[in-house]
Amino acid sequence: MAGEQTFIMIKPDGVQRGLIGEVISRFEKKGFYLKAMKLINVEKSFAEKHYADLSSKPFFGGLVEYIVSGPVVAMVWEGKQVVSTGRKLVGATNPLAAEPGTIRGDFAVDIGRNVIHGSDSVENARKEIALWFPEGIAEWRSNQHPWIYEA
Ligand code: GDP
Ligand code: MG
Repeated sequence: MAGEQTFIMIKPDGVQRGLIGEVISRFEKKGFYLKAMKLINVEKSFAEKHYADLSSKPFFGGLVEYIVSGPVVAMVWEGKQVVSTGRKLVGATNPLAAEPGTIRGDFAVDIGRNVIHGSDSVENARKEIALWFPEGIAEWRSNQHPWIYEA
């Protein structure tokens, strides 16, 4: 049984600032399962594809430059309502509006340096996972599953 999955990416600023462990730890401790992960540099055309929906925005060029400015950590996380709950863990797009306790609220200031990406819907998660992990993802479940999930 595959549960709901989301695509989470630690952006170049998060990698440079040593926040990889912190981000992974938050998703892990919550009770979600890491199903795929890689640290990679992406091409401009790949970043443009990932953010295609935003191509008409004035900040699009700067956003693409930001994403290709260093390696990112691409991940797939799985669990009950992981898409919407993952967005809550990530926090509001503008870090100054993000609540303390969220990743962006705790670790970022500017919207153009907001540390992390999280899929905004189950459908977009499916598309993003297919784009970033064409090779497929791991199949496993923690032995602690019954201690986290009632059923
Ligand atoms: P997200 O889903 O919360 O990441 O937000 P969006 O999908 O709306 O935007 C994608 C990313 O584009 C954000 O995470 C920001 O890094 C960047 N972004 C969004 N809005 C702005 C903006 O007004 N200015 C700048 N510089 N970047 C923005
Ligand atoms: Mg988005």
